[in-house]
Amino acid sequence: MGAPVEPSDSGQIDFRGAARRALTDPLRQGAIGLAVHTFRQNRAAVLSGLPEWEAWREQARAIKAHTLAHLDVYLDRLDRSVRGAGGQVHWAADAAEAREIVLDLARRHKIRRIAKSKSSTTSEIVLNPALEAAGLEVTETDLGEFIVQLAGEESSHFVVPAIHKTTPQVAALFAERLGAPRVEEPERLTQAARVHLREKFLAAEMGVTGVNFAVAETGTIVVFENEGNARMVTSLPRIHVAVMGMEKVVPRLADLAVMLRVLPLSATGARMAEYVSFLTGPRRPGEVDGPDELHLVILDNGRSRILGDPEMREALQCIRCGACLNVCPVYARAGGHAYGSIYSGPIGAVLTPLYRGIDHAGELPFASTLCGACAEVCPVKIDLPRLLLTLRRRAVEHLPGRAARTRRPVGWVERLAMRAFALAATSARRWGRSGRVLRAALRPFVRGSSIPALPFLTRWTRYRHFPAPPPSAFRDDPTSNEP
Ligand code: SF4
Repeated sequence: MGAPVEPSDSGQIDFRGAARRALTDPLRQGAIGLAVHTFRQNRAAVLSGLPEWEAWREQARAIKAHTLAHLDVYLDRLDRSVRGAGGQVHWAADAAEAREIVLDLARRHKIRRIAKSKSSTTSEIVLNPALEAAGLEVTETDLGEFIVQLAGEESSHFVVPAIHKTTPQVAALFAERLGAPRVEEPERLTQAARVHLREKFLAAEMGVTGVNFAVAETGTIVVFENEGNARMVTSLPRIHVAVMGMEKVVPRLADLAVMLRVLPLSATGARMAEYVSFLTGPRRPGEVDGPDELHLVILDNGRSRILGDPEMREALQCIRCGACLNVCPVYARAGGHAYGSIYSGPIGAVLTPLYRGIDHAGELPFASTLCGACAEVCPVKIDLPRLLLTLRRRAVEHLPGRAARTRRPVGWVERLAMRAFALAATSARRWGRSGRVLRAALRPFVRGSSIPALPFLTRWTRYRHFPAPPPSAFRDDPTSNEP
């Protein structure tokens, strides 16, 4: 479930169907709920003692917005800097071209084994199946990514690919696929993975990574991680291939000062990433480790189109921290696989329709309550609710057949409800009266402090309780100044 599919051959993403299936899996619900809760708490605890946070966010936003406004200049500078440092640069217009570049490098260097570190961009271009189809052995070395690879699944979170798995599930998987003893202590499971992966690191002839940032000024590729596996992938094999979306460039090394802070803090609440690798060119004479060749693949794959779209350009500011996933009530229930792409959560609901086309992913912008929590946490201040609303408008404009003529993607019940809401919300008197009527109508269904089931809104109460109405409205409070 949830395998990313290349844009050109994708079918419609069935978010509703996949989310409905996810809602019936209590283990998945529990695993995701616990993890995102922990990340949110860690982040909140650290930020409560950081008065600089808002200034850092503004700085990070400004760096990304400035870079996007001059992207051609900085990409050209990056190309020259990487070549100047001894690396090689390849430009890929789309996923197929990017895959072919990596395959061609593997063929030319007679590569048989590849070690990879976590990378959303290589998942976006569906690299692993192409490499495996060519007879290459590909091993994911990030623990979470390794788990989902063993399970034959895809990552369901940018930062924590196996967020949907419980420890007993991982223990069973390792016992079955690695022949490891059936233990459930995380340390022993990690040890089993380490023993297996150590061999893979030593045997790999090519290392493939993503790129968190690429510095135009120096040609430095920057990779954040928490396990040290990316450092092995970039230093042990003789060829290193780094695949980056073209929006990952930053102008100067100094720009990283703020990015080094906001990315890990937003991702997991960590004050800094455990490992940050700065890679400038291949191994130089006299150096003891590092690859003989460094290849940087710069991927467009629809990004130029987004850059030229003034309403949506802001989406390219994303630094893939995952914070918007961690606070999204829809992601927490549906999980990452429901989004049908490596990009999930609120930013996935924006990026996937942009990359893959609104015809294929038109349901995704509607997979949001528009509560605004994503925009509040985003370290580069992307206005995700605005982007989602814009895409909703476009999805309606692209509706096929009769729906296109009437521009009515929703059923009559919802249309009626929205009309009634509009009528009530445009008059203080009507608003007050409808509140009283609704409170009285709901009262017979209250059990304790919530409403577990309603004869209407049944799809809502199938998976969660409806909140009980308060005994009186705030506006009825005699101490209120409201009319
Ligand atoms: S949209 Fe913002 S919060 Fe979400 S992953 Fe991107 S940078 Fe992080």
